[in-house]
Amino acid sequence: MQLDFHGAADCVTGSRHLVTWGGQRVLLDCGLFQGFKVLRERNWASPGFDPREVDAVVLSHAHLDHSGWLPVLVKQGYRGPIYCSPATRDLAEVLLLDAAHLQEEDARRANRYGYSHHAKALPMFTRADAKKALACFKPLREGQAARIDGLSVTLTPVGHLLGACAVTLAHAGERLVYSGDLGRNSDLLMPAPQALTEADVLLVESTYGNRLHPAEDAAARLGQIVRDTIHRGGSVLLPAFAVGRAQALLLVLQRLKAAGEIPPHLPIYLDSPMAIEATDLYRRHRRLLRVPGREMARLCDGVRMVTTGAQSQRLAASRMPSVIISASGMATGGRVLHHLKAMAPDPRHHVVFAGFQVGGSRGALLVAGAREVKIHGEWVPVHAAVTHLEGFSGHADQRELLAWLGHFRRPPRQTFVVHGEPDASDALRQLIAKELGWPVRVPPQGGRFIV
Ligand code: ZN
Repeated sequence: MQLDFHGAADCVTGSRHLVTWGGQRVLLDCGLFQGFKVLRERNWASPGFDPREVDAVVLSHAHLDHSGWLPVLVKQGYRGPIYCSPATRDLAEVLLLDAAHLQEEDARRANRYGYSHHAKALPMFTRADAKKALACFKPLREGQAARIDGLSVTLTPVGHLLGACAVTLAHAGERLVYSGDLGRNSDLLMPAPQALTEADVLLVESTYGNRLHPAEDAAARLGQIVRDTIHRGGSVLLPAFAVGRAQALLLVLQRLKAAGEIPPHLPIYLDSPMAIEATDLYRRHRRLLRVPGREMARLCDGVRMVTTGAQSQRLAASRMPSVIISASGMATGGRVLHHLKAMAPDPRHHVVFAGFQVGGSRGALLVAGAREVKIHGEWVPVHAAVTHLEGFSGHADQRELLAWLGHFRRPPRQTFVVHGEPDASDALRQLIAKELGWPVRVPPQGGRFIV
C-alpha cells in the first residue's frame, strides 16, 4: 500500500490523502487549504497528482477543509464516484454552493476595483463547477459497503458534524482506517464517535492533539456573558460556523431560556442564509442526533431568521440588546463582518467565538487580544469584550483521541498522525508511542510512504 499525503500533513486544512492499493487510487477527502496566505496559495497549485488518474474519492464529512477542493478536482478531469454518507452529501451541497458563490463574488469585486494581481480575476470554482462535483456524489448508508474494484469502503459515524464518518478501506484481508475528524463524547448535537477495533494502517486527526478541553461549563459561561452584556445595554455577537455550531448555539440558548438563565423574550437572531438552510437539514436528519425530537422541533421557536442583506444591515444598525448568531465562524467573511464593524468599537458589546480559530484568521487575531482589526479595508478599534469559548468545540481533545485509539484490539502496523498544527500532531505522536507503544509518525506535506 502506498500513501501520499497531499494536505493536512503540516496543518489542519486541505485534507487530501491518496491511497494506492490493490491497483486502485483512492483519495480520502479533498479539502481546501485555509488560514495563512501561504497555505491558501496551495489551492491554486498542482495537487501533486493527476486528478484523472484517481479511481474514487471517499469524503469523511462536509467541512470545506475536507470537501472544498472537490469542484476543482472535477474541473481538472476527475470523473469517478465520490462516496460519503447521505447527510454529508446534503451538507456538502449547501457548503460547496455557498463557497462557489463567495468565490464568484470575490472575483467580481476584484475585477471591478482592479485589485487583482492577474489580468482578470477568476473564481477558483463556480456554482456550475460545484454542481458538476455534486453530481458525482454516491451516498452510502451506514453499514453499506461500496466496491472500488477489489477494495471495499465502509463508513462509521464519528460525531463531530452531521454525517461525519471514519472511513475503512479493506483489501485482501487488510484494513486501512481514516478517522476523518473525531467528535466528542459529550457533544451537544452529535452522539459520541463509534469505536473501530481493527486496523492495519491508521490515519488519525490531531486538531486537539496537545490540548484538553477546559472543564468549565460553556453553556453556563455563555449564560453569564449574555446576562452581563444585556445588563449594561449591549448585545452579544456569536460568530459561528453556519453548519453545526450555529445549531448547537441555538440549542444552548433555548435551554438557557427554558431554565430562566437568560430572559425568555431576549431577541435571538440567526443572520446567515446558510445557517438557516443547515438548520433545516439538521432537523431533517434529526435521527442522527442525540437531541430529543421534541427539542429539535422547538429549536427555532422565537428565533428571528434574517434572510435578506437589507434586514441584516438594519439589524447591524439597531441598538436593541440582543444575541446575534452570524457566519463566518472565524470572521473571515460573510455577514458577521458588518456586525463586527458596528459592535467592536463599543465596550458594551461582547463578541464570543465558540469554535476553533485557525492561525491567520481574523478570529484568531481577536481572541489573541488584537486591539484593532482590518475589515473591508478599514482599521476598526476593538473595545468590545472578546471571549473564546472552547467548550463548544466539535473535536475530540487529547484524552478523547487517545480513548478512541484505545478501542483498537491490536497495534496497527503503522499509524500516521494528520490534520494538526505541527506541535499538536507531534504531541499526539509522542503520546501514542509512549502510552500505546505503536509505530507512529507525522507525515510531511507531500510525503510518500510504502507500508
Ligand atoms: Zn471537520
